Amino acid sequence: MKMKWLGLSRAIHPADKKGTAGLAIKPLTGFSRVTIPLDMQIGPGCEAIVAKGDHVDIGDPLGKPLGAWCVPVHASVSGEVESVKKEILSDGTHTQYVTIISDGKDTVSELVKKPVVTDRESFLEAVRASGLVGLGGAAFPTHIKLNPPPDKKVDTLIVNAAECEPYITTDNRIILENADDCIAGALATAHWCGIETVVIGIEDNKKEAAAALKEAAKRAKSEGRGTVEVKVLPTSYPTGAEKVLIQLINGRIVPEGGLPADVGVIVQNVTTLWFIAKYLETGMPLVKKWITLDGGAVKTPGNFEVPIGGTIEEVIEKAGGLKAEAKKIIMGGPMMGVAVDDITRPILKHNNAILVFTEEEATLPEESACIQCGRCFRACPMKLMPAALDKAARANNADELEERHVLNCIECGSCTYVCPAKRYLVQNIRNGKALVRAARAAAREKGGQS
Ligand code: SF4
Ligand code: SF4
Repeated sequence: MKMKWLGLSRAIHPADKKGTAGLAIKPLTGFSRVTIPLDMQIGPGCEAIVAKGDHVDIGDPLGKPLGAWCVPVHASVSGEVESVKKEILSDGTHTQYVTIISDGKDTVSELVKKPVVTDRESFLEAVRASGLVGLGGAAFPTHIKLNPPPDKKVDTLIVNAAECEPYITTDNRIILENADDCIAGALATAHWCGIETVVIGIEDNKKEAAAALKEAAKRAKSEGRGTVEVKVLPTSYPTGAEKVLIQLINGRIVPEGGLPADVGVIVQNVTTLWFIAKYLETGMPLVKKWITLDGGAVKTPGNFEVPIGGTIEEVIEKAGGLKAEAKKIIMGGPMMGVAVDDITRPILKHNNAILVFTEEEATLPEESACIQCGRCFRACPMKLMPAALDKAARANNADELEERHVLNCIECGSCTYVCPAKRYLVQNIRNGKALVRAARAAAREKGGQS
């Protein structure tokens, strides 16, 4: 029997641990080398156009995009290409990496020029040429997201400033330090994409940032640049999940398997839109990233601007080092981030935090048997049944996972967080999603062969 999917709505309230919220973004410079993967996005990556021994400057393209979804990847330091080779990413996939030994000069490429934007097409091409992907962590190519199929009438741009994951405070800092540019990026995007309404969603634990956005929106309106509404939402998790945010902002519910454009909405992260404003002004592509460095093992937690491709090791060292042994390193937040297997991994375009945990913080509690308390169900914003999905995933039961709509899981981790039996729910559900995708692919292949 097919289960009916019920829509969404629930939330949890983990401790926000945003102790770095008051710390301004500090640039970290002087990286000795960067190792830049040519695939840092959803969709195919790039193919190298540089070779060992080549000289590159900041902003020079390193790879040729493979297909319409792909965005270029650029050099983040000036210097000499040491190697171009295939390596394994943290998620187990293979991609080409370009390693550049810095010459310490930070010379900017002559190719870096302010883009000429005259219409929607040239705007989308500029966004693509900037190498931009969703900076909130999704890595979805921005030029694709801003260009939904022609039969979808988009009337609202929702700016995601929720930043609901514990620890992470970079969006908050970007807003506090650049509120006018955040508004400018949102208005430019709405203008060139023909979107009438712009609404920013921000949680009420970021009062100063919300006030800065409101002031900047007021200035934009009084100068005739456009209207932006700032909506302050109650702090809860996962407010920043796209489908949850849309429902909170304008009450629309994205259908199962659908996209925000199906309900007339495009959601963009606030730092993504700020970057668009900066790119339109300067033409400097995405070569730096803004990250929160935090966790019990870090000596001086803070927010930092780092070159894409700089290693986690060098970032930690330049930020002040560790005060305790690192037992676990996470890229992203504690709810949705991924554990890193090697401290020499590079900072990627969509990394927004590096968390370094001590033994005490990193020790996972022992799993025990499910006591069928229903807390995971009550916590799931997608109204799924995590305990049942977990059971089906452990049994490799792709049919049941499909029937229980496992692909609607947004991997928010709320179920794992509330489970008193400490069951590894989201980890198993993630495996369950992979199982269903593999089963679908096998069925398609079989159908194609018959
Ligand atoms: S929260 Fe944990 S113990 Fe309770 S029903 Fe869900 S899986 Fe079982
Ligand atoms: S991880 Fe998936 S199943 Fe668990 S609460 Fe989030 S959406 Fe629901």
